[in-house]
Amino acid sequence: MHMTALAYFVQLRPLLEERMVLTLAQGGGVRENFQEQLQRFFDLLEQALQSGHATPLVSLLREWSATRTETDLERDERTVSSLLRQIAVLTQETAHQALEAHQALEFLSAVWPIYLDCLAQAAAYETESRTAYLTQELARLNRIVARVDKSKSDFVAVAAHEFKTPLALIEGYAAMLDELLPPEMEQFHSLLMGMRNGLKRLHDLVNDMLDVSLIDNNLLVLNKQPVWLHRIFRLLQAELQPVLEQRRQILEVRSFPGAQELLFADPTRLYQAFRNILNNAIKFTPDGGKITIDGRLLTGFVEVTITDTGIGIPPEHQETIFEKFSQLVDVSLHSTGKTKFKGGGAGMGLPIARGIIEAHDGSLWAESPGYDEKTCPGSTFHILLPFRTQPEDPNLAKLFDTLTTQTDSSFSSSEIQS
Ligand code: ADP
Repeated sequence: MHMTALAYFVQLRPLLEERMVLTLAQGGGVRENFQEQLQRFFDLLEQALQSGHATPLVSLLREWSATRTETDLERDERTVSSLLRQIAVLTQETAHQALEAHQALEFLSAVWPIYLDCLAQAAAYETESRTAYLTQELARLNRIVARVDKSKSDFVAVAAHEFKTPLALIEGYAAMLDELLPPEMEQFHSLLMGMRNGLKRLHDLVNDMLDVSLIDNNLLVLNKQPVWLHRIFRLLQAELQPVLEQRRQILEVRSFPGAQELLFADPTRLYQAFRNILNNAIKFTPDGGKITIDGRLLTGFVEVTITDTGIGIPPEHQETIFEKFSQLVDVSLHSTGKTKFKGGGAGMGLPIARGIIEAHDGSLWAESPGYDEKTCPGSTFHILLPFRTQPEDPNLAKLFDTLTTQTDSSFSSSEIQS
């Protein structure tokens, strides 16, 4: 049935070859090689025209697809399908020029389905090899990211450890100087006070760096004890009161089911996590704003919410803010100060808070209608903690058995303060 088409092809082949080599291959060496490949293609096309399907060409197409280089794959260039498309266009043009209209039609209607099959095959092979390439590339990039992340985390750990000793020395000498200076040298005392405030900030920073590296390396060890959430909130409120007053902000602590119950958790670490979240709430809420601590008891969990009337967080950053060293405000525009409006920070507060909550098998996330410094839509941080009323260690359980029936009055505030 395709014998006539085959005859037209034999007739057209020298012309086709010549045109294709001229159009599709540039440069002597390339041209020779291309001509050889083209001849293989046309030999097989002849067989395909005899049988009426593209099967004879399949292995050549696979071979062509496999010879694409890394650079071709990376740029998605020199695809076999684009070469086939060009061959098809040139075939059509040549047939129209060299044959009568009805002959061209007969030839093309035989060759066209074969070209289409070839195209589909080539596209399938190419998708396969490109998917394999991209998967490999993704794994390579992931390895690089992991390496960068590891060196960042190693740097933080090493730097923090190295800072600790000289910092302790300066703190010690500053304290000694303060002791030795006669009380009447007030000016020097106030200078020393400024210095010690700075040192305290540096100390907190170093401790945060150490905590970040502990969390990064899954080395955060919890010291679980009986905890009452409402006591933590009360202590936090007392600690933050001067700052709240300075910023004319109100911190409302609502009472909710679960807040008065005994929980087994690490009080110091929980206090630290809540403090970090509250510090942010203060920082990112304009003067005169309000912060509310509320919560509810769910099956197996207690949920605490910390809501502010601040600038809010854009949806695309509600997750990234928990990555270490992430800040939404341009660092160069930071006002300094831990509690000033939009005050600067190193971007460790939330990762530490999340690390602490997750070490308790809980979760921490943020919700906000969006970011707007004018309308201040606010943000809510959710802290979900397992409602553990028994210690996991059976020996501790025995020890604390009596405690669980007592009121919370036996819990001293000093246990919470770090
Ligand atoms: P920082 O030390 O910069 O405060 P954090 O890890 O505590 O680091 O917070 C990361 C970033 O998340 C902040 O710089 C801020 O852009 C954003 N953020 C955190 N809490 C709030 C909040 N309550 N309202 C608006 N933005 C917030």
